[in-house]
Amino acid sequence: MADPFFQPVSGFDLPRFAGIPTFMRLPLVEADHPRRKDVQIGLIGSPWDGGTTNRPGPRHGPRQLRDLSTMIRAQNGATGVRPFELANCADLGDVGPNPVDLQDSLKRMTAFFAGVKAEGIRPLTAGGDHLCTLPILRALAADAPLGLIHFDSHTDLYHSYFDGCLYTHGTPFRRAIEEGLLDPKRCVQIGIRGTAYDTEDREFAAHAGIRVIAIEEFFARGPEDVMAEAREIAGSAPTYVSYDIDFVDPAFAPGTGTPEVGGPTSFQALQVARLLAGVNIVAADLVEVSPPFDASGGTAWLGASILFEMLCAMVATPA
Ligand code: MN
Ligand code: MN
Repeated sequence: MADPFFQPVSGFDLPRFAGIPTFMRLPLVEADHPRRKDVQIGLIGSPWDGGTTNRPGPRHGPRQLRDLSTMIRAQNGATGVRPFELANCADLGDVGPNPVDLQDSLKRMTAFFAGVKAEGIRPLTAGGDHLCTLPILRALAADAPLGLIHFDSHTDLYHSYFDGCLYTHGTPFRRAIEEGLLDPKRCVQIGIRGTAYDTEDREFAAHAGIRVIAIEEFFARGPEDVMAEAREIAGSAPTYVSYDIDFVDPAFAPGTGTPEVGGPTSFQALQVARLLAGVNIVAADLVEVSPPFDASGGTAWLGASILFEMLCAMVATPA
């Protein structure tokens, strides 16, 4: 029986342009809220882009994703899944970063997600740039490494930028592997494409045993076949899902800092998220939506829709 408190506000009751915009019109349940102990999946904003090496802006992502997510309705159009009836979902608010101190921001974010984990809440996070994923993994994988299904046009596996800077949005998964937060044999990266600095990231992946599925292979095999392999790589053990909006072709998602042409459509972007059903998803994120480059709001709308598909996959497979 669905808990009425955790149901989103319906557009039948209050028009979608009215009211305070929380993620998917869910209740806002911050740390001291009396219903906090009943939350099972928490939608969280991580408004920070201090790891961005080129065009900034994802710090503004959570606010725009909240706004556009008010267009999400309660039922999945393709599968009929009604996620808000299957798990108590709530907007837990934002992580508070320190925009002028990278290491302090990482510490604050790790502490926030360690608290969420201790409460038994599975986080579904809206970034923020892709370095936001590292502190989440530090909090969630402190005891045992996780598997990873990673959608992106970039591997984010480089060693360093700018003569020794180890922490950028191009390095989070390199650090996560080095820190033992991910099991490389249970990691798969999907959609990789575009020009590259060199082959250092791909060589690291090959050496570590990370499966990289480039866009040419993705299109040659199709989403169903690729995602069947991804589910097999992740297996039944706890797995993190990280979704960089630049996985999607910039024709559909121009509002991001590092777009790469020749990518999947918005249909395929939702399809791959839907095909996560069956994976033991402990947490997921959607990162790199950059409102300053998203004049129409269409990128944030796609991002909100991907978050909904990931949420449906999470409720299909309670951890
Ligand atoms: Mn990325
Ligand atoms: Mn990327």
